[in-house]
Amino acid sequence: MKADLLLDSARYVVVCDDSATVLADSSVAVADGRIIGVGPAEEMRTSVEAAEVIDARGQVIMPGLINLHTHLPMTLLRGVAENVDLQGFLELVWAEEARVMDPAGVELGARLGAVEALLSGTTTALDMYFHPQAAHRGAVSAGLRHVIGPVFFSFPGPDGLAWDERMAMARRWPDDLAAIGGPHVPVAYMPHAPFTVEVEHLAQIAELARETDAIITTHTSENDSENDDTLGSRGMRPVACLDESGVLGLAPVLAHGVRLDADDRRTVAAAGASVAHCPGSNLKLASGAADIVGYRSDGIRVGLGTDGCSSSNDLDMFPVLRLAANLARLVQHDPAAISAADILRMATLEGARALGMGDRIGSVEVGKEADLVVIDTRVPHLTPLRDPHTAIVFAAGRSDVRHVVVAGDVVVRDRRSTRIDMDDLLDEANARVGT
Ligand SMILES: [Zn+2]
Repeated sequence: MKADLLLDSARYVVVCDDSATVLADSSVAVADGRIIGVGPAEEMRTSVEAAEVIDARGQVIMPGLINLHTHLPMTLLRGVAENVDLQGFLELVWAEEARVMDPAGVELGARLGAVEALLSGTTTALDMYFHPQAAHRGAVSAGLRHVIGPVFFSFPGPDGLAWDERMAMARRWPDDLAAIGGPHVPVAYMPHAPFTVEVEHLAQIAELARETDAIITTHTSENDSENDDTLGSRGMRPVACLDESGVLGLAPVLAHGVRLDADDRRTVAAAGASVAHCPGSNLKLASGAADIVGYRSDGIRVGLGTDGCSSSNDLDMFPVLRLAANLARLVQHDPAAISAADILRMATLEGARALGMGDRIGSVEVGKEADLVVIDTRVPHLTPLRDPHTAIVFAAGRSDVRHVVVAGDVVVRDRRSTRIDMDDLLDEANARVGT
């Protein structure tokens, strides 16, 4: 068979399917942006005629990581708010946003974030930020699969839009998304949080999302004071606001979900909603430790995210894998509470399912879009390599990411972006914020 690309003779292919399949000495063939073959290297070499061959000997091929909660343009706010809790953080960040984040700043920040994400093996990000057109243009220019959509506040918010203007933008969003292009993503709407968006406004978003078949993501129960604020202003906890408005019935992605009580957990599980667990941000802001093992046994889908790098400082998913595994074990007082394979599936296939894209991305299987990462294992910290799941979660880092493919395009080759001139990008980012 003819292929555009053959990733040849990997030491292991880590499939990230539900049975945690690992294939030794195997290759992956790609055509028209999709995976058309996964199998033994010998066989693939004789049966596949490829326009381009990447030598994957001594390397691991895995699906691209899915960052289920971030704010990519906030790369430009890195280091702005340190040693403060969530509420103190929001005050500092909102002030700097007013200074730096016009549409050009958002586009630049998203481009910087997308390059950072891709270089660390993330191929898809669920991004939340205002000026979504600008953010999408920036992220797509680097080759990232970038899920974003209009953000909603019931007050004017950092972009100064009135409610009707937000709804009008949301109605136009499917057309805007198509016009900008890039790898396939769903339409998405992003109410900031139940404490910043009134219940009747949430209901309008839910109604529109049903019409346009959009996914929804929102911040939910990130810490105790967020729960208290919501209870004070709405008379309900955040999950109850989402339930009453109809948002929860659309199986949204709930960012953080650190402080869900037993009732919340039952309601979230019954709705088929997902939690985007961001342990790096939750630890740094001392928000709390989400009991993801408990959530999973309640039937809640859990994916992983970095959050914006104004709170967690970088967009690297490798530390997130490690923190999620270690924190879950600590919370449960059990070193067997969750396996490395489960953690890696949360950052790939489970993230894809949370986005309604489980049949398109998230695992290395024939028919899926080719979102692939090649990890170099010929390094001391990955030697000897007994179990690739364990090595990736507990020992690998972003410097091990050698090649990255999104929708069949090689967007990182030999640790460099094939789309963006790095010196220009870094100079532009420094000039923008005056550092
Ligand atoms: Zn966030």
